[in-house]
Amino acid sequence: MIFRDKASVAIPASCNGQGSKAELELQEAITYYQTYKVGQKSFSFKVYKNDDIKDALEALFEKKCAYCESEYSHIQPMEVEHYRPKGRIKKENITGYISPGYWWLAADWDNLLPSCIDCNRKRQHKTKNAQVTLGKADHFPLHPDSNDPRTEASLVNETPLLINPCNEDPSQKLIFANINDKPIAISLSKNGLSKLQVDSSIKYYGLNRPNLIEARAKTHKALLRSLMDIEEDLKLKETVVSQNIHRAAKDAILDPIENRLRGKLKYIKDNFLDTSNPYSLLSNKMFNYWVETLKSNVIQVVNK
Ligand SMILES: [Zn+2]
Repeated sequence: MIFRDKASVAIPASCNGQGSKAELELQEAITYYQTYKVGQKSFSFKVYKNDDIKDALEALFEKKCAYCESEYSHIQPMEVEHYRPKGRIKKENITGYISPGYWWLAADWDNLLPSCIDCNRKRQHKTKNAQVTLGKADHFPLHPDSNDPRTEASLVNETPLLINPCNEDPSQKLIFANINDKPIAISLSKNGLSKLQVDSSIKYYGLNRPNLIEARAKTHKALLRSLMDIEEDLKLKETVVSQNIHRAAKDAILDPIENRLRGKLKYIKDNFLDTSNPYSLLSNKMFNYWVETLKSNVIQVVNK
């Protein structure tokens, strides 16, 4: 999960203000919910699935899932996910639902995110020893200080326990622990609200589902290989620098090594670090740690 600024793309016409399709649909929904009784069917919203909304979400998230950073476009259609569920809300730790959900946000641009099926839907996932049910579905857990019912007026007092990558920077809260070469998502904080939010996001978005860990592990392995390859050149460079030979002769050996290093770093930037790549949060965390470990050696090359 990485931060994306909603203001960086134009609000789609379908849900942009007065007279928009979303606004007209909302008027119908307001009438519908004036006589709504618990247990009644939810209003059937359609505008949020309009093509211009999907296109804007795809552009904003570069065809990756807002939650797990997987590329989905070549294997499945994007799901337009409601950060705050529109129809009903699953009660935490007890059976049943809160109905209706945040219906007035059904086509609110700030409430929409692109998601893969596994993050968005409640689905069974196989682990080594068991089957587990994961996926956000109708979940929207709040901090215990936030009280139900959930109304338009109470929104400002809500403290959601799920991270929205358009409202905050997940890189400040979420890190990866390398356990047996498997990058496992964990909270950076050991306690407090931040840990509650990360733990809850990992649980409901399924950020440690087995197949996703496997996919992240492939990125981890490939990036590690590229970094080790660079380290070989850095060692070679160090050896040449320490040799007592004429400056011109030394430069003649060093120039191609440095050119090669720059090329390899560009490859890493283009294929791992750029936000368009899957699991770029993991790659950037790995790369920053690696640079920090090697200190000035790499920075000199990067800046040259
Ligand atoms: Zn996903």
